[in-house]
Amino acid sequence: MKNIQSVRGMKDYLPDNVLIWQQVENILKNILNSYGYKEIRLPIIEHVALYNRTIGEVTDLVEKEMYNFTDRNGDSLVLRPEGTAGCVRSSIEHGLIYNQEQRLWYMGPMFRHERPQCGRYRQFHQIGVEVFGLEGPDIDVELIMINIRLWKALGLDKYIRLEINSLGSLDSCNNYRKVLIGFLEKHKNLLDENCKRRMYTNPMRVLDSKNPNIKCLMEYAPKISNYIDNDSRTHFKELCNLLDKLNISYKVNHHLVRGLDYYNRTVIEWISDFLGAQGTVCGGGRYDDLVKQLSSYSTPAIGFAIGMERLVLLVETLNPNFKLRNRCNFDVHIITKSKDIKVIALDLTEKLRDAMPEFTFITTFRDSSVKKQITRAIKKGATIILILGENASNLNQVTIKDLRNGKQQTISILDILSTLKFLLK
Ligand code: ATP
Ligand code: MG
Repeated sequence: MKNIQSVRGMKDYLPDNVLIWQQVENILKNILNSYGYKEIRLPIIEHVALYNRTIGEVTDLVEKEMYNFTDRNGDSLVLRPEGTAGCVRSSIEHGLIYNQEQRLWYMGPMFRHERPQCGRYRQFHQIGVEVFGLEGPDIDVELIMINIRLWKALGLDKYIRLEINSLGSLDSCNNYRKVLIGFLEKHKNLLDENCKRRMYTNPMRVLDSKNPNIKCLMEYAPKISNYIDNDSRTHFKELCNLLDKLNISYKVNHHLVRGLDYYNRTVIEWISDFLGAQGTVCGGGRYDDLVKQLSSYSTPAIGFAIGMERLVLLVETLNPNFKLRNRCNFDVHIITKSKDIKVIALDLTEKLRDAMPEFTFITTFRDSSVKKQITRAIKKGATIILILGENASNLNQVTIKDLRNGKQQTISILDILSTLKFLLK
């Protein structure tokens, strides 16, 4: 019989790898907390209409990548492909953003039916941040500063760079779209099939085509910065000014447009050259009109989403000491010489856990030789090994072995706690 395997593009995260994820997640959570951002937990399934109305019907995401399905009641649902739309939906539904500011974050799996490759999966994870009620550009800078602090805390700041652009208001964007269509029509013979298909429905996407010939052509395309409205121009100028004054490096990329329809004004991407073709670790921007689209009022908003798989991959490849450095709890392994002592060992280990909750205690349940048990404990990363005697009468003969320096001593069971505390202090 053939073994059942995981669904294509959906990874398993094994314990060793999860250790890094947990550490990265904790760092991110602590930093977000230090800026006053609150966690929100949202469903993985939403109505399909939410994405059709917000992301835009002629985007890659809605056209090709959504996991839609009809449930038993006949409702059209979808496994969420991103977090912003759901976060806005929930914030409106629960009155979190009517006439008030909110700084929110969430973390969890997203689903997109894309071609799986390194850094691109069908189930992947994002940590997303959304701020409501602030027009910026100061809040735009705050988000960028959060990103910088995250990269620094993970030892990645040298390997990730910032690109920004402004799309202007939705109106000015529409004007630009017309100009761009005019340019594309003139050079239609140079476009590939994908771009031709997109030309009238989503011409902005042609700007960030990966096809080198199209890239070359687009160097000559009209620049969006010449078409944005005056208020957006001022907004962007102020943003650049603030970044300059704060010594934050960035590059203005006139071709940066982002994949989803709801963005306006500031758009940002954090890119690394160490990830191959999937170089964007984090993307975001303003979406000042999205709340209005889904409710009866309007609230300015901005957010970003980090691709966790790409971030963890960067940590693993560029910061090999990360795992060791952030591992703060030591493991103590308890080995017994005979079966008769098992009850004492179980009882003792519970007491040690009560007294030293920050350490990990692992009791060996194998009946193999002491030597084999020691070898196994070392392999599993033990810091200290405790070897209990053969029977209840020789409990003043407990061997305690510190694997960090190889030193070994024999003590009474009554002194275990004080000795451990002394060794692990
Ligand atoms: P890309 O251009 O790589 O497809 P995107 O513009 O579709 O990215 P966003 O919707 O902005 O991505 O999502 C934010 C981040 O989530 C991306 O920068 C990336 O790090 C991550 N991400 C997006 N799609 C995937 C995927 N299929 N697998 C893994 N990570 C992903
Ligand atoms: Mg994509």
